[in-house]
Amino acid sequence: MMACVKKKMPFLLSVQHDVLSGLGRLFYVISPAETSFEKVEDVPDFVNKAIPYFVVFLIVEVAVLHLQGKALPRHNDGLSSISAGILSLLPVLLAKNIEKIPYIWVWSDWSLYRLSWHSSVTWWLCMLGVDFCYYWVHRLSHEVNFMWAAHQVHHSSEDYNLTTALRQSVLQRYVSWMLYLPLAFFIPPSICVVHLQFNVLYQFWIHTECVKTLGPLEWVLNTPSHHRVHHGRNRYCIDKNYGGTLIIWDRIFGTFEGERDDDTVVYGLVHPLNSWDPIYTQLSHWRHMADTVRRLPGLRNKMAVFVNGPGWAPGKPRLGETSDIPDVHSPVLKYDKTCRSVWISIYAWIHFVGALVVYEIVAACRQDISYFHLCLGALFVFWTFTSLGHLYECRKFAPHFELFRCVTYLIVDYYVRHTDLVNVTSDTWVTSAVGSCVCDILWLSHLLSGAVWFVR
Ligand SMILES: [Zn+2]
Ligand SMILES: [Zn+2]
Repeated sequence: MMACVKKKMPFLLSVQHDVLSGLGRLFYVISPAETSFEKVEDVPDFVNKAIPYFVVFLIVEVAVLHLQGKALPRHNDGLSSISAGILSLLPVLLAKNIEKIPYIWVWSDWSLYRLSWHSSVTWWLCMLGVDFCYYWVHRLSHEVNFMWAAHQVHHSSEDYNLTTALRQSVLQRYVSWMLYLPLAFFIPPSICVVHLQFNVLYQFWIHTECVKTLGPLEWVLNTPSHHRVHHGRNRYCIDKNYGGTLIIWDRIFGTFEGERDDDTVVYGLVHPLNSWDPIYTQLSHWRHMADTVRRLPGLRNKMAVFVNGPGWAPGKPRLGETSDIPDVHSPVLKYDKTCRSVWISIYAWIHFVGALVVYEIVAACRQDISYFHLCLGALFVFWTFTSLGHLYECRKFAPHFELFRCVTYLIVDYYVRHTDLVNVTSDTWVTSAVGSCVCDILWLSHLLSGAVWFVR
């Protein structure tokens, strides 16, 4: 008996260590020794590893909000936010992290002084450097219109909860990489990639109304309270609190604003999106910019639309006038369009989870399938989120769109099972009995759903 317990102890201890390490990564509580790597390719995908923690935190947040008597996350807004999060991962699935290439090039050919990758001094300097650069990336993402066109996706939710943290732009990573390049003169790419991930992970848990304040830590850290102000559309919240992990940059550069008890934060965009359509969420501001460019006279004005702030207009300061911002105060009516039938909501969430599973299958098999089929998998995930968004908005053609999507899934499933279209040889969960069972459930759910839409 004792021998058995002794045998189990190391395993239990290692599980405990893994769980606590994973938890620590969400709060930037990590050791330099455990997270320093020589090569970029050796750096784990810490964000991917955090997904189970995201799920647990989402469930815990709902429970805590319920106990606190606060409003719970809305299913339509939550689905829209998580869809945006998964869509933002699709380009990574298709093109890996191509935005790392310029950094590696600068480090290889233009570095001024190469700090050692295994020094804790490098690790801490990089942490500060990445957070400093993030401050400017984030500030410019609000103050330069073409960068805001990407970043506004993150601000488009009128709720503020952990699902909001996942609401990310597909294009943001492709417009922000250049501002991290100065670090490449000194910091090894592998260490920078580590901190870029932890900077993102830290910002997950601060998207909550469960935590009021963190006492003296509010002076140094970016906290839920500070970030609530950042997501606000009350006049006092606009263009404030850009910090990632630390709030000191806002205090230094004059963009800090504390949360006010007498003016509850109203979340979302100054001009709300009023849509659950993921394409519209990602691209609406680009269309708005194109319309503005077309409308304004003169090349100078047209160019200014891209580089000035989103509130700019001819004759106004670069960032626009505060008086032009609608003066909102809580409570406000939120966009909440949803089909009246509860079955539509249940249906949407079932197929939403199905699309997440398809994404995981495609990601797990990416080594074994052609690039064309990888694109088809990504396209199907994208199509599903768009179709479900249309269903939530009760659009006229949404049922036909859904029928077509379900039939397409069944046809592709047939070909995958009966041809050599996909030849998975890697040892992944997809090829296990669990994977087979999951694929059968997906097939059945699309068959039944297609039949329902057909006879409807
Ligand atoms: Zn922002
Ligand atoms: Zn945020």
